[in-house]
Amino acid sequence: MKDYKLGRDYALEQDRIDPLRTFRNRFHIPKNEKGEDLIYMTGNSLGLQPKITADYVNEELEDWAKLGVEGHVQGKHPWLHYHEFLTETMADIVGAKPSEVIVMNTLTANLHFMMVSFYQPTKERYKIIIESDAFPSDKYAVESQLRHHGFDDQEGLILWRPRDGEELLRYEDLEAILKEEGDRIALVLIGGVNYYTGQFFDLKRITELGHQYGCKVGFDCAHGAGNVPLNLHDSGADFAVWCTYKYLNSGPGSLAGCFVHERHGNNPELNRFTGWWSHNKKTRFNMRGAFDMLPGAEGWQLSNPPILSMAAIRASMDEFKAVGFERLREKSIKLTGYFEFLLNNLGDNVIRIITPKNSEERGCQLSIQVKNADKSLHDKLTEKGVISDWREPDVIRCAPTPFYNSFEDVYNLVERLKTILND
Ligand SMILES: *Cc1c(COP(=O)(O)O)cnc(C)c1O
Repeated sequence: MKDYKLGRDYALEQDRIDPLRTFRNRFHIPKNEKGEDLIYMTGNSLGLQPKITADYVNEELEDWAKLGVEGHVQGKHPWLHYHEFLTETMADIVGAKPSEVIVMNTLTANLHFMMVSFYQPTKERYKIIIESDAFPSDKYAVESQLRHHGFDDQEGLILWRPRDGEELLRYEDLEAILKEEGDRIALVLIGGVNYYTGQFFDLKRITELGHQYGCKVGFDCAHGAGNVPLNLHDSGADFAVWCTYKYLNSGPGSLAGCFVHERHGNNPELNRFTGWWSHNKKTRFNMRGAFDMLPGAEGWQLSNPPILSMAAIRASMDEFKAVGFERLREKSIKLTGYFEFLLNNLGDNVIRIITPKNSEERGCQLSIQVKNADKSLHDKLTEKGVISDWREPDVIRCAPTPFYNSFEDVYNLVERLKTILND
């Protein structure tokens, strides 16, 4: 958008006319010792707490106190099928059918469980492609899967790399890898939005490419869920995983999401790890019968889940329902565009934004490279009340989240950065 303007008045005016302006008040905003709001730019790392969350968690504590084990069926929100209260909104957020989505376990655990089903290497086809700058947990997970199946974790791992002097990944380069080695590649596993650069990939394009060469294709959408429209079903991906504590505001270490495309949902041939929660709900408590697999993504569950964390997710899902994901994305594009405009105004001899310029290829995060900077820059920002995130060697990641960040937040952040750089 070209009509952004400099100056505080513009920011205040944008906040005044922002249709989502009241949502900020529905979150706890961390404060400094003087009681002033910090500028919280790390919703990409740990989303803030909705004010309703405490009530949702307390409701379960109370049912537990009052009902004990009977809470499984007599609770206000019976624990036995508590996950079902989350499914529909979660499916909406990631663009999937409810039968394709399940909230369970944690993120890296889900990644492994998905690889049990979708990484089935043979002697000829066993390699895995990831981004060269994949999130470390994902890299460690795939390396251990390679070793688990008896392959060399270096030889079996292919890195999709940016070209020299670039940070963003090009689809032509992925295609070139597939052209050369496609028949040896079992799995393409990509972060839906790269955690470092903020590049939002074309999931459908990657899926089609991978499938064309007979590979399975999965996405880690930890930085995508609640941030960008993922359209998982239409992408055709075989599976996807994500966490709920980043843009989904469900609390530290909360449970993770998992998507299994409906074409795999009822396939008994597909290898999977199972537990009593993957068994038919009607006969689960008969306890002695043979295994009877639940259809859909639910059939990948293992255990009865931690209800207190799920209560926090239920609170978050209700807030997402209230705001509507499309409105959120609309504000996000505007807010991050404004952030980019102000940063570019600082002059490109000090600052370079490595995140894609096209709003369709990014979420709310901008990754900012600051010339000759080291971590002291980040520390100075922290002193000035800005919570951002530093990644070696020279990148600050800031994610103005449309749910609770304001235009004024973004304005203040850039003003403080300017002061530090001019010092
Ligand atoms: C945040 C994040 C993780 C963290 O994994 P946990 O299992 O939740 O600790 C893993 N992968 C990606 C891409 C992430 O963004």
